[in-house]
Amino acid sequence: MIKFNIPAVIGNEEKFIRDVIGYKKFSGDGDFNRKCANWIEQNFSCHKSLITSSCTHSLEMAAILADVKEGDEVIMPSFTFVSTANAFALRGAKIVFVDIRKDTMNIDEKLIEAAITRKTKVIVLVHYAGVSCEMNYIMMLAKKYNVIVVEDAAQGVMSTYEDKPLGTIAHFGCYSFHETKNIHCGEGGALLVNDVSYVERSEIIREKGTDRSRFFRGQIDKYSWVDLGSSYLLSEFNAGFLFGQLQNAVHITNDRLKSWDEYYFSLKELSDKEYIELPTIPDECKHNGHIFYIKVKDRTERAKLISFLKDQGIMSVFHYIPLHSSQAGKKFGRFNGIDRYTTSESERLVRLPLFYNMDSETILYIIEKIRRFFQ
Ligand SMILES: *Cc1c(COP(=O)(O)O)cnc(C)c1O
Repeated sequence: MIKFNIPAVIGNEEKFIRDVIGYKKFSGDGDFNRKCANWIEQNFSCHKSLITSSCTHSLEMAAILADVKEGDEVIMPSFTFVSTANAFALRGAKIVFVDIRKDTMNIDEKLIEAAITRKTKVIVLVHYAGVSCEMNYIMMLAKKYNVIVVEDAAQGVMSTYEDKPLGTIAHFGCYSFHETKNIHCGEGGALLVNDVSYVERSEIIREKGTDRSRFFRGQIDKYSWVDLGSSYLLSEFNAGFLFGQLQNAVHITNDRLKSWDEYYFSLKELSDKEYIELPTIPDECKHNGHIFYIKVKDRTERAKLISFLKDQGIMSVFHYIPLHSSQAGKKFGRFNGIDRYTTSESERLVRLPLFYNMDSETILYIIEKIRRFFQ
């Protein structure tokens, strides 16, 4: 059976976990947490990176930092993972869903302005498959209407927009290091604070609402409860594993891009004959090979393809059930404008197996079976 995903293990993870046991410092913000945060800050020229326990938690922190309150509106695409919306619904916000673009499956930037009201506080962007949203246009809108922008860059680590790393462009960027992502530590994440004025408060929120970070730096002699917060820290075990991966981030990304390109160029023929559609990567975007998807005619053909591939020993999957059509999505959100592409395009999408160190024979085998399906 060809699995859909096999989480990467590169080599140094085990050594670093053993180091953690030797150092006898296991809780958050030890050496490895610092190493991971510094790695992100240096490699992505990011002002402040806070390692967290998940992208979900990074999004929750962003919602607290943006002061999202009952009655505020938060704009986002409906084609995304639940955490994008949940983090803001938890603070009492109304979620306002906007349609996506057919080519990238990202929020359609041209439809955002019509969804902005006096209550709009935040726009959340999802860089689907590590391919950037149209950042220049969206940041221009954010300035015009004075709203905060959060990049859900869970899938976008090592991707860029006009050579700027995703996650570093808006006010906040949220990364995921879940095992289904390119670079991982089982469960983990990071919050990138790109607007300096939020740095101090972000440290407090992450440390249970206390000024403990200042205490550890010797800036105060006792720490206490000063704000809202929770425990968003990552254990040193996970941080050690993560550092082993970050050190090899370029290698992991290039390896995935190689497999992604193999899929793309071999399936070009089927797309030229209009049996399938292939992903679009806009000129200003460099992606990270996070997801390889194809689009087929409709949901019926998709179900047949997935089942055919399964019979050939190949696991393929689809996502997402649009949030506005889900039970909680109806309760906490509304769709602004018409759903031209969100539902119809999401129903056509199939993700093919893609993981670190996939060999070319496996990819060729999968492609051959897909060709056979369309014959
Ligand atoms: C994976 C993912 C998340 C959640 O990440 P966790 O680290 O598991 O919390 C959020 N948003 C998007 C778009 C994702 O793909």
